[in-house]
Amino acid sequence: MRKVSIFGATGSIGQSTLDLIKRAPDEYKVVALTGSSNIKQLAADAKTLNAEIAVTADESRLGDLRDALRGTDIIAAAGQNAITEAAHRPADWIMSAIVGAAGLAPGMAALAQGSTLALANKESLVCAGKLLLDTAQTHGATILPVDSEHSAVFQALVGEDMAAVERIIITASGGAFRDWPLEDLENATLAQASSHPNWDMGQRITIDSASMFNKAMEVIETHEFFHVDPKAIEVLVHPQSMIHALVGFNDGALMAHVGPPDMRHAIGYALHHPARRHLPVERLDLAKIGTFEFRAPDESRWPALRLAYQVMARGGLSGAVFNAAKETALDGFIAGQIKFTQMSDVVTATLEQLDVADSHIDATMTLDNVLEMDRIARFQARSIIEKRAG
Ligand code: NDP
Ligand code: MG
Repeated sequence: MRKVSIFGATGSIGQSTLDLIKRAPDEYKVVALTGSSNIKQLAADAKTLNAEIAVTADESRLGDLRDALRGTDIIAAAGQNAITEAAHRPADWIMSAIVGAAGLAPGMAALAQGSTLALANKESLVCAGKLLLDTAQTHGATILPVDSEHSAVFQALVGEDMAAVERIIITASGGAFRDWPLEDLENATLAQASSHPNWDMGQRITIDSASMFNKAMEVIETHEFFHVDPKAIEVLVHPQSMIHALVGFNDGALMAHVGPPDMRHAIGYALHHPARRHLPVERLDLAKIGTFEFRAPDESRWPALRLAYQVMARGGLSGAVFNAAKETALDGFIAGQIKFTQMSDVVTATLEQLDVADSHIDATMTLDNVLEMDRIARFQARSIIEKRAG
């Protein structure tokens, strides 16, 4: 039996992963499941799958988790350190689906034991791509992409020579505000930003899709994961979300990955890699769909995209600054402190203000200096938000 752990098990990606695992219970031994606020789901899944340990990030909920697991042999634990410790438990395959930079330390721990890390948590690559890839190499671990675009690129590259790759095009649905008049964006509400036309995802990534911060993160993720020049990475708006990415080769060919907008495809590909196995996703009827549309992304609608290229040009720890500022700006929008369009202003200002500090920090990436930069950037972004709100 393969030993598997799912970090962020109670979230959208975590639940899709468990859906696949529950369909073949005899094939997997579940080691660790983690969540945060949703104790009921965490305990229910831990019981159904007879996990070794269930961990909540929220220490105040340890009592609830213990109560929910009473009468079983499942260990209950709580706190960020307990989550990272759970990632040290031997497992063959580990899903990294915590949302935000909180996914970085457990991901590093999973790699340090030489496991296969299925990486949905793009924030870790944006914050510390080099560190993650170097750690994987040192410990003989494998990182497989789970983000749909990156899984698509990964699949299009099977058997190909990277030297023949001219460009990588990742698609974007355009999110909730793709067709809104520009002047209305400023007054977009939280409820409007939290509804995605095609994908059913966690709230944070759904809002990031409307602002295109998600796509900006994915551009950086592409750069880190596939080692391609930023100039070779393009974003294409494709409202149907069925072509997930295209790889352009030096003979003019474009290899496109086409599939329904269902994350169980990319998760399943990473679960069974290098084999392909039957997956319970819709089969597309292209004749019925009829048309695929494409447009160039409009930078005045989505200023976040430009920031991604700025971050890649700067390198070092600017990815950590970018991610932390973005997470803080998103918190500010969710809390009603700033408007939708001010999120990119906050990130832009944080990147400007920390440019000098950046050069003073050791360019050698360690988990400690990434987390320190994350902390500094959150503080800086929060003070920018407070000034604007006040
Ligand atoms: P969700 O918000 O649905 O789930 C997040 C998970 O992380 C939940 O299990 C949540 O617990 C847990 N969590 C929240 N805060 C913390 C914390 N501070 N420490 C530890 N755990 C925490 O997110 P998604 O599933 O949508 O996204 C997960 C990751 O996958 C993100 O990095 C996202 O960018 C990426 N991704 C998601 C896609 C999607 O389709 N959803 C597509 C591609 C990438 P609880 O719910 O119990 O509070
Ligand atoms: Mg994606």
